[in-house]
Amino acid sequence: MGIVVVGSINADLGVRVERHPNPGETLLGSGGGISPGGKGANQAVAAQLLGAEVTFIGAVGDDAYAEPALRRLKESGVDLSRVAELDGTTGLAVITVSDDGENCIIVIPGANSHVTADYVSRHDEAIAAASIVLLQGEIPADGFAAAVAAASGRVVVNLAPVVPVDSAVLRQADPLIVNEHEAQLVLQQLHPDSTNCDDTAEPAQLAHDLINAGFRSVVMTLGAAGCIVVTETESRTIPAPPVSAVDTTGAGDAFAGALVAQLDSGASLIDAATFAVRVGAFAVQGWGAQDSYPLATDTLPS
Ligand code: ADP
Repeated sequence: MGIVVVGSINADLGVRVERHPNPGETLLGSGGGISPGGKGANQAVAAQLLGAEVTFIGAVGDDAYAEPALRRLKESGVDLSRVAELDGTTGLAVITVSDDGENCIIVIPGANSHVTADYVSRHDEAIAAASIVLLQGEIPADGFAAAVAAASGRVVVNLAPVVPVDSAVLRQADPLIVNEHEAQLVLQQLHPDSTNCDDTAEPAQLAHDLINAGFRSVVMTLGAAGCIVVTETESRTIPAPPVSAVDTTGAGDAFAGALVAQLDSGASLIDAATFAVRVGAFAVQGWGAQDSYPLATDTLPS
């Protein structure tokens, strides 16, 4: 039982700048350190640190970035027996954070691009035994589909980034976790011929549109404003506690990891999201992704 994450592992190369450069512009920055990241790894670490039992299915390369990429997964106690070390490069994300806390990210998939259907199906038994399978958009679409096909427990999807996934596969998500921008892209993906896509739709409307498109439940994260939870029968806005943000990198992943940790321990979706907004708010107060995540014993903002 427990949670299985089928996802990405990256080394994050973090750079600080006063403001983001314009195309063609050169700016001075600082930082340049390597920290552990990848949306799959971030969410696995967040859930495990909060007390969940997490097994990871993924891959790193045989380069110098593998060790720093795996550091926090190892320290937190995530089961890494299903993480392969493959020839080639570990996933790498180049993250630029400006003084106002906004980030720009370039991801080089590396070994994550080998988490295909073929690779994932070697772990079908572990996926089938999980109470929750948690997926993101940083592995190939056929690997994603293979994980959903093998799952017998609850499937939770944070489709970030939004990659083209088969719509029947994606609709297995319960909940689908997206931010506002990702919600728009998922709706476009589900209704490619629709001419009346409304770029100005309110977040709550987008979440309802996703429910109408066939999802059982949708959780939309709204940054400092918290999140919206919508199911066929309820709709709730849950504000995030006010904090002063220094780095929002990985806040959405802290949220997703916290949400599944709570669902796995029996919480309702509303209660899980109420906890997750506090974990997200905790994470934006510290630098980096995984290094800013709370332990179960930490006091969360409220
Ligand atoms: P994403 O990075 O996936 O777009 P969000 O920016 O919506 O995710 O952040 C995820 C969660 O992190 C939010 O729901 C909220 O709980 C928390 N969060 C993000 N930014 C802030 C902030 N400035 N103040 C307080 N909480 C925040």
